[in-house]
Amino acid sequence: MQITRYQAGTYDIAVIGLGHAGIEAALACARMGLRTIAFTINLDSVGNMPCNPAIGGTAKGHLVRELDALGGEMGKAADDCCIEYRMLNRGKGPAVYSLRGQIDRVKYRERMKATLEKTKNLYIVQAEVVELLTEEEKVTGVVTRTGATYGVKAAIICTGTYLEGSIIIGELSYESGPDGLFPSKGLSASLAKTGHTLRRFKTGTPPRINRSTVDFTNLEVQTGDEDIEPFSFSTKEKKENLAVCHLTYTNPTTHQIIRDNLHRSPLFSGNIKGIGPRYCPSIEDKVVRFADKDRHQLFVEPMGLDTDELYIQGFSSSMPEEVQLQMLHSVEGMEHAHVQRSAYAIEYDCVDPRELYPTLESKLISGLYGAGQFNGSSGYEEAAVQGFVAGVNAANKLLGREPFVLMREDGYIGTLIDDLTDKGTNEPYRMMTSRSEYRLINRQDNADQRLMGVGHDLGLVSDETYSEMLQKYALVEEEILRLEKTGARFDEDFFKAVEEKTGGNVHKGVKLADLLRRPGVTYDELAAVDPDRPTLPRDVTQEVEIAVKYEGYIKREREKVDKVKRLAKRILPADLDYMSMATLRLEARQKLAAAKPKTIGEASRISGVSPADISVLLLYTEQGKA
Ligand SMILES: Cc1cc2nc3c(=O)[nH]c(=O)nc-3n(C[C@H](O)[C@H](O)[C@H](O)COP(=O)(O)OP(=O)(O)OC[C@H]3O[C@@H](n4cnc5c(N)ncnc54)[C@H](O)[C@@H]3O)c2cc1C
Repeated sequence: MQITRYQAGTYDIAVIGLGHAGIEAALACARMGLRTIAFTINLDSVGNMPCNPAIGGTAKGHLVRELDALGGEMGKAADDCCIEYRMLNRGKGPAVYSLRGQIDRVKYRERMKATLEKTKNLYIVQAEVVELLTEEEKVTGVVTRTGATYGVKAAIICTGTYLEGSIIIGELSYESGPDGLFPSKGLSASLAKTGHTLRRFKTGTPPRINRSTVDFTNLEVQTGDEDIEPFSFSTKEKKENLAVCHLTYTNPTTHQIIRDNLHRSPLFSGNIKGIGPRYCPSIEDKVVRFADKDRHQLFVEPMGLDTDELYIQGFSSSMPEEVQLQMLHSVEGMEHAHVQRSAYAIEYDCVDPRELYPTLESKLISGLYGAGQFNGSSGYEEAAVQGFVAGVNAANKLLGREPFVLMREDGYIGTLIDDLTDKGTNEPYRMMTSRSEYRLINRQDNADQRLMGVGHDLGLVSDETYSEMLQKYALVEEEILRLEKTGARFDEDFFKAVEEKTGGNVHKGVKLADLLRRPGVTYDELAAVDPDRPTLPRDVTQEVEIAVKYEGYIKREREKVDKVKRLAKRILPADLDYMSMATLRLEARQKLAAAKPKTIGEASRISGVSPADISVLLLYTEQGKA
């Protein structure tokens, strides 16, 4: 039956979805002064975590810190709702230190909904958007299932795993969003009319069980960090751990149950068509792919303080329910576990991100933006940073300001968006530290130094927070200078200990900085031979230690970045005959001939022109052939 449509008002920007992408997009637009209307299928699912109740982790911690430095919300909300903090990869170098926090899922939703409701210029609505309105390839409005028609100048699609969502459990599949929420029906067809390519991706989640039915006797306890570092640079109060996780393992019996039932797995029976994330495999996938392993780790994670629901990290599955129960009850501690929510897989529509510019604006429809899982990524953090970038760009365009584009050398956000919009992705894209060429300078600890100035210029970071950051790094510089100039107080035992630990003699009058450069010597240990040291905050001394210890490596990486930036400025003659350059790939020749880029930098941002093609152009310009 045709629903009667009615004019429900005009706004500057519509944000479709209030998951992790939509929240950051809506807040950025409203905080930049744009009248923003934001939709979600269910207001009680704002900021929902349909998968692990955790924020951060390897490389994801970097994204949260970069977003926080730019003025995003996730880091602050995470600190308000975190029940256990752990800095991962402490045994490795600071480039891969990554913060991970166990989050109280219900509290996080409430915190984010309240923040949205209190934000000026922002209007949130529980409604499903079923159609995008455009005229002459330009966004003009959106329509909801109830016929409400909103006039807007830009729309940001952040529909997550809901778009034509379908749940798969064994032989069963049915239309649904995650966590029993309605799917999004109709918008896909409207998007397809704009010419955008929609693909089918898939992801999965493990069962949730009741704590009182778990036997914790033989499970390993995993406690949080003693010395907690918060997610947000604005968090000053001391944080504490309020919960623990536990560790158990699958075993050969679990694996045999899975092997005996692979024929009923929709992954292997072909019932699942969508492409799943390589780096978040289901347990059945792991048993098949790593057949030599006789056990897989399972983290038993609390989902909040006021619930007995536990999340089994590493046990994602889409096996039939009865098989899931057999698998679970074969695991140590889970013999009598009561399942409150079964594991499942979900398939959903998402766009080909190569159809978006690095601003995340559509190349086909002006004023249309995409962010989050809709762009082919996977993960709360990946979604949040895209939401922020799309929101800022939608606002900047309407405010007549320059596009906001972060480059690979600026950090993980720039790397993520460049990977998606330039190379595209054939599976849900998860951020990893190995994706960045500049890990040592783009660490999670110095995201404020790298990006807070940008956030301040956008008007999304307060003067107070910004000046605190400047003061912090002024203290860092001052302390490094002091260590370079100050000789260590002679202490025979200490000097001997350093010689034994690091080899090589320690001479009287050795500078403190030279001692700190020695592997294994920490800033804290130097206190023994540094009587006049000032009392400095932890985040300052951490920066000092990294800057002194990794000085050489950081310098080389900076030189690499400077070279890339310098080369990016290299001019390309307007009459360059790209089609005759046989060493360029055909796609690149065609794209370059069509775009006629003015500089190498411009050429590197043309989708389909690979880093290898750029090397060819650099060679050409070097040899003066161009
Ligand atoms: C079962 C499952 C397993 C997952 N497993 C993993 C994993 O292992 N690792 C990992 O990194 N990530 C995983 N994720 C992904 C993670 O949840 C997402 O990456 C993240 O939530 C994406 O954020 P988002 O903002 O893009 O979308 P979501 O958080 O999904 O939010 C989408 C929002 O859009 C709204 N919406 C959708 N359509 C409409 C419409 N037409 N009109 C109005 N509102 C609409 C919804 O109501 C919701 O508010 C999983 C997700 C699910 C569902």
